[in-house]
Amino acid sequence: MNTKYAGLMKNDMVNGEGVCVSFWTQGCPHRCPGCHNPETWDFDGGMEVPTDIKGQIIKAISANGVERNFSVLGGEPLCPENIELTCSVITAVRAAYPDIKIYLWTGYTFNALPLCDELEKIIEKIDYLIEGPYIEELRDITLPLIGSSNQTIIHLT
Ligand code: SF4
Repeated sequence: MNTKYAGLMKNDMVNGEGVCVSFWTQGCPHRCPGCHNPETWDFDGGMEVPTDIKGQIIKAISANGVERNFSVLGGEPLCPENIELTCSVITAVRAAYPDIKIYLWTGYTFNALPLCDELEKIIEKIDYLIEGPYIEELRDITLPLIGSSNQTIIHLT
């Protein structure tokens, strides 16, 4: 399991609906040309995941009496190196907040997702899967939540 992550934003107004807590995993096998976050590609980059990361996220979601949604981005949250951490974080957040929206961005297309037990658990718990690689030639900044028009938003609940 990768012990690195790329970042945590406690009040994100861009990724997801309303205000979200956003968590970026570290390491991405896709290496899409034109990627906006190439610093997240290296599995050895980023920062060590703190032991209390789940507690930090759970606390941040309801800080100041405002309940936020939760977004997971990358890097690639669903690659074999990161999926255990992704599953662990999402499971903890969903247990603490049954009703918030959880968004997850992946560079895999839905049909190419690496199958495993953790993936099944994640799919059960999230609300929106934004899938597909970033394709520079199809860049479209008018579309909410996605960067290029090949990507799709799958509503899972
Ligand atoms: S999947 Fe996302 S993080 Fe990975 S290279 Fe593509 S755009 Fe960048």
